[in-house]
Amino acid sequence: MSPSSGCELCADESLTTRYAQEPEYWIADCLVCRVPMVVWRRHDPSPPTPVRERLVQAITPVAEDFYRGAAWYYDDHMRKIPDHYHAHARRG
Ligand SMILES: [Zn+2]
Ligand SMILES: [Zn+2]
Repeated sequence: MSPSSGCELCADESLTTRYAQEPEYWIADCLVCRVPMVVWRRHDPSPPTPVRERLVQAITPVAEDFYRGAAWYYDDHMRKIPDHYHAHARRG
């Protein structure tokens, strides 16, 4: 799928802390939630399982550092932007 105009995740205009910048994804603090968020670089809500596994792996060290060892969970229930895959690392 091609980038969707008007999608803020495709626009990738995050001004917050940037943790990773990869061809497949980026990780930054979510502007709204102020917690780390991984965003797939495709405007598509359903990554194949191997892609999803890589995104989980990528955000894990970021989240462990962010929460300093406290419990957190991978939240890929997409409420605000349901058509572009992203996941928050939320406090558990
Ligand atoms: Zn958020
Ligand atoms: Zn998008």
